[in-house]
Amino acid sequence: MSMGRKEDNIRKAQTLMNKPEFIRNIGTAAHIDHGKTTLSDNLIAGAGMMSEELAGKQLVLDYDQQEQARGITINAANASMVHAWKGKEYLINLIDTPGHVDFGGDVTRAMRAIDGCIILTCAVEGVMPQTETVIRQALREKVKPILFINKVDRLINELKVTPQQMQERFTTIINEINEKIRNLLPDSLKEKWALSVEKGTVVFGSAYHNWAISVPYMKKSGITFNDIYQYLKDGKSKELAKKAPLHQVLLDTVITHLPDPLDAQKRRVPIIWKGDQDSALGKAMINCSPDGKTALMVTKIIVDPHAGEVAVGRLFSGKVKKGQELTVIGMPETNRVQNVSLTVGADRIPVEEIRAGNIVAISGLKDAIAGSTVSSDPEMTPFEKIVHYSEPVVTIAVEAKQMKDLPKLVDVLRIIAKADPSIQVEINQETGEHLMSGMGELHLEITVYRIEKEHGVEINTSTPIVVYREAVAKTGGPFEGKSPNKHNRFYIVAESLEPKVLDAIKSGEISAEGTRLKDRKALAKQLENLGMKRDEAKGIEAIHNNNVLLDMTKGIQYLHETMELCKEAFLEAMVQGPLATEKCMGMKVKLVDAKLHEDSIHRGPAQVIPAVRNAIYGAMCQAERILLEPIQKIFINVPQDLMGNAIRDVQQRRGVIDDMKQEGDATIIHARAPVAEMFGFAASVRGATSGRALWNTENAGFERVPRELQPKVVGEIRTRKGLKPEPYDASYYGE
Ligand code: GDP
Repeated sequence: MSMGRKEDNIRKAQTLMNKPEFIRNIGTAAHIDHGKTTLSDNLIAGAGMMSEELAGKQLVLDYDQQEQARGITINAANASMVHAWKGKEYLINLIDTPGHVDFGGDVTRAMRAIDGCIILTCAVEGVMPQTETVIRQALREKVKPILFINKVDRLINELKVTPQQMQERFTTIINEINEKIRNLLPDSLKEKWALSVEKGTVVFGSAYHNWAISVPYMKKSGITFNDIYQYLKDGKSKELAKKAPLHQVLLDTVITHLPDPLDAQKRRVPIIWKGDQDSALGKAMINCSPDGKTALMVTKIIVDPHAGEVAVGRLFSGKVKKGQELTVIGMPETNRVQNVSLTVGADRIPVEEIRAGNIVAISGLKDAIAGSTVSSDPEMTPFEKIVHYSEPVVTIAVEAKQMKDLPKLVDVLRIIAKADPSIQVEINQETGEHLMSGMGELHLEITVYRIEKEHGVEINTSTPIVVYREAVAKTGGPFEGKSPNKHNRFYIVAESLEPKVLDAIKSGEISAEGTRLKDRKALAKQLENLGMKRDEAKGIEAIHNNNVLLDMTKGIQYLHETMELCKEAFLEAMVQGPLATEKCMGMKVKLVDAKLHEDSIHRGPAQVIPAVRNAIYGAMCQAERILLEPIQKIFINVPQDLMGNAIRDVQQRRGVIDDMKQEGDATIIHARAPVAEMFGFAASVRGATSGRALWNTENAGFERVPRELQPKVVGEIRTRKGLKPEPYDASYYGE
């Protein structure tokens, strides 16, 4: 493969990017280790964007040093390929999505940029929980799936299956995925999008050995299922790869079955953008028009040593040109576009301008973060926020080793949080240290590595600690909170939010947030529909961090003028709960009565805020405070004879085994355990299984700390924070 072909393809890509019917924006989605990186590399090599011998070895997409070292895909990177089908050439923009759910935010964002996706699953392991997660993410964004069943060679070489058994396995996998697809889709798409071997939306093959086959390709080439079986049985996968090359078969399938941007945006825009669909911009996006205003969603920020911060995203309407002024929605000033380019692995190919329907890399958008809406219209309604399936659950403190690096560290942390919104950076007000929270131990380890190796700041880090949440088990109050001058009294009831309301806030279905709620009437209706009582829903005043404040009072004089301060007190109380000063979650805080001084001078912030806060805290004490801890699902693949050791390790960590499956010589264990107990699991399970266990984890929300452990855990958190170990009881907050 000469350089010539790559150059030639780049030239073609520059033409094709102007013809949306010849564009496919796609991604691959899979459980970790099922072969996504190997597949992407082979596609890129096959399409002539890299030399064939290097495919599978060079790992173009895993270009981050850290990823190379660990051999896993962390960042969603992009590559463009040109593929000919029925005498026409197509531009295929492939976004590689990370397989590790610690980086789930990246996966969801990548889904926003693409219209179709290759669900990849290993023929031996079959559908895994992360496969399911990514299918859910794809369908939610109306991204159309096709299926690639990978590692088919293993069925024959390792499991020694008969042709009959091989077909049965395929059928099981396809049925399982179809069941999920049907459950997640509206009726209009259920059958259209269900996978079908006959239709050709299912492809089988081996990414590692570079071959693939589909029914349409069988018909075209005359290769039969039995031929494939025989090739593999005889160890002739090289020959098979010549007859049925992976990139050919799979990219043909992509072009035939996955939508072009013109088709996809009609379906997708109403889902991902809630602005007026009949407005000029709405129409331009639905029609993928290059003549409308510019509308772009940033899915990723790359930090390039030369170009600085580069925003990568999907252009839904209009064009992006060098020198153009664009607004990152929510920011006051415009940003000037410095460079526009197509991306190919680590390379970016500069272009003068690019039209709607493409994935584009832009430098100069200094206000953009991953998830930003960028437009030539400063008033544009932003795209729907991208929902994270998990929230940060582990925190470390970071400090610069050298005092002189402190300003640089502050800057680096800002960039890191911009590029990866699933990292949260906060300053501890008491100690002034930087606290960095992430999705798990590995996520933080990798981020620390980046800070040191890529940004060149040496740092010290604390041992990781778990993030908890506070909630209540019952109903408490009305509790009276008095202002320091005794002239104002507030009465609060605290209880748990309806589970459906909580889910709707978490999932972004209720997208209102904060203390200035725009359309309160519509919001009240939405809450009522989710099961909140009508008179409660009507009183909605604020939503913060999955908690709500309701005003249930009627006709209290001066309360209106005081409400802003009540909301402020609510925010404070929800950020620092009364049990262990952790954040509250799922709280319904109701103001049921108030007595206010007639003179506004006696009801300023210093009076109202502590009074309301104490009333909230007191009511929560009476409602039985509970502590919630983050839980992780754990999947372990271990040889049968070592299974006992792995299970013992999990059980010592308050873990529960949910399920076990035999696959050949291996056992696949599904378990769950508290994150707090999972630190150091990597080393211990390695030791217990002589390094022969493959495993990974996925965050699974918060659950109540076992009753008998709560006092101990609360005491430890409080001591760590320099508080007295025992929390205060209700009497402390009132008389
Ligand atoms: P990712 O985590 O999904 O990106 O998976 P990788 O592409 O890194 O692959 C994980 C492992 O599976 C690597 O050791 C690959 O060499 C191996 N692998 C990938 N595809 C195949 C295949 O078709 N057959 C076999 N036997 N191994 C494969």
